[in-house]
Amino acid sequence: MAIQSKNPATEEVIKDYKELSNEELEQKIQNAKESFLSWKETSFFERSKLMHAHATYLRLHAEEMAILASIEMGKTKNAALTEIEKCAFTCDYYAENAERILSPEKLDTPAQENYASFEPLGIVFAVMPWNFPYWQVYRFAVPALMAGNVGLLKHASNVPGCAEAMEKAFLETGFPSGVFQNLFLSSSRVENVIRDSRIIAVTLTGSEKAGRSVASIAGDEIKKTVLELGGSDPFIVLDDADIEAAADSAMIGRMQNNAGQSCISAKRFIVIDSIAEKFTKAFVSRFEKLIIGDPLSSETNVGPLANEQGLLEIERQVNESVSLGAKVLYGGKRFGDKGYFYMPTILSNVAKGMPVYDEEVFGPVAPIIVVSSEEDAIRIANDTPFGLGSTIFTKDLEKAKKLAKKIEAGNVFINGFVRSDPRAPFGGIKRSGYGRELSDYGIKEFVNIKNVWIV
Ligand code: NAP
Repeated sequence: MAIQSKNPATEEVIKDYKELSNEELEQKIQNAKESFLSWKETSFFERSKLMHAHATYLRLHAEEMAILASIEMGKTKNAALTEIEKCAFTCDYYAENAERILSPEKLDTPAQENYASFEPLGIVFAVMPWNFPYWQVYRFAVPALMAGNVGLLKHASNVPGCAEAMEKAFLETGFPSGVFQNLFLSSSRVENVIRDSRIIAVTLTGSEKAGRSVASIAGDEIKKTVLELGGSDPFIVLDDADIEAAADSAMIGRMQNNAGQSCISAKRFIVIDSIAEKFTKAFVSRFEKLIIGDPLSSETNVGPLANEQGLLEIERQVNESVSLGAKVLYGGKRFGDKGYFYMPTILSNVAKGMPVYDEEVFGPVAPIIVVSSEEDAIRIANDTPFGLGSTIFTKDLEKAKKLAKKIEAGNVFINGFVRSDPRAPFGGIKRSGYGRELSDYGIKEFVNIKNVWIV
């Protein structure tokens, strides 16, 4: 895949980027290794000061960074601004909390003194996707750096401008040059980096295919990995739900991050039969109001899909599902004749065996599956190889908590759509990956938990 900025709304190529030569790559890895030796010795106070300065930088440069995301991967400028603020908030959060989370933990054993010490590992190599071009990167980098590690980023090939902007941001806020570096590399060269003995751990957010490849190479090298992969999140609406609130949340949950290109978008809507008609009507009415168009316009709710491949895949999934009996209630086709736009779409009569039921749908398509009982709702919710997020809408919170226990996923949101927050753990089970990001759990993924025992 060429490393290239191409505007998905206009199909214009903005800029081509050159891959690193082997010598340049070598210099960057060596710079990371040398920087780690001094960075790991810095105090939490010093790291926090830089991270707070970084948050300020992001807020000051939010406008230009947001435009860059819009023109490289099509998300609306408003969504990009929200994303950048979340990155800044996360910098502040870990600047204020890393020391507390990573303070040595006293252990109650027969030792004279015994504690667990949390120490940095070294160079963490991150392979990241385009859909949240900033947030995915900060989610790994902020905790990793605050713990005393250094980071190398191989970003998705369609967001090189965003990757460059982040490297510049770390440099301009005073981080030593080897603490966070961007590598312009094609995915075929990821293996060489993972196998380099100076790389200590790998984190990947992306597709199952990329995850399998990266994790097997890292496994062969006995290197720690965290994988954040795809999802097909169920959104369950029970018969006692507030239907209007559920429809609002269902629309935002499906369409979040521009045209629903999010791992934690709600992707299968499982609705109890007695309220299915009312919910469907309310849901369709939300979709009818969405404005599709130029991601840079403040009026726009839905921009283009990030690339042509994504558009073709959505088209295939919808068309095949329709040929198998799904009914288009809204949308179901491309929008306009330029750019990779697809209409927000709602499908009914959806059943197992259709791509919109069986596969991850990474675009603005909402399949509705009607069920006759709560047991059936849970069975269908879990009838997926993925286990990332899920939503249950009901007014009975005690029942919701019992059902939450039965859901096979890393996140359950009750009466709201799934979202990530630096204060809460984030991650999946099954084919959605393993390990956790964010919160106290995420920062401990890339540390040596050292047992110190004084006899
Ligand atoms: P992708 O094709 O897997 O790309 C992700 C990253 O992996 C890119 O940097 C890509 O580089 C690289 N890559 C691709 N194939 C590779 C391989 N064989 N070996 C090494 N690196 C490889 O995924 P995407 O299409 O960008 O993103 C969509 C997927 O990510 C969806 O499944 C979505 O659900 C998932 N996702 C998950 C989360 C989560 O937190 N769980 C968050 C966001 C997205 P190139 O661009 O150069 O190919």
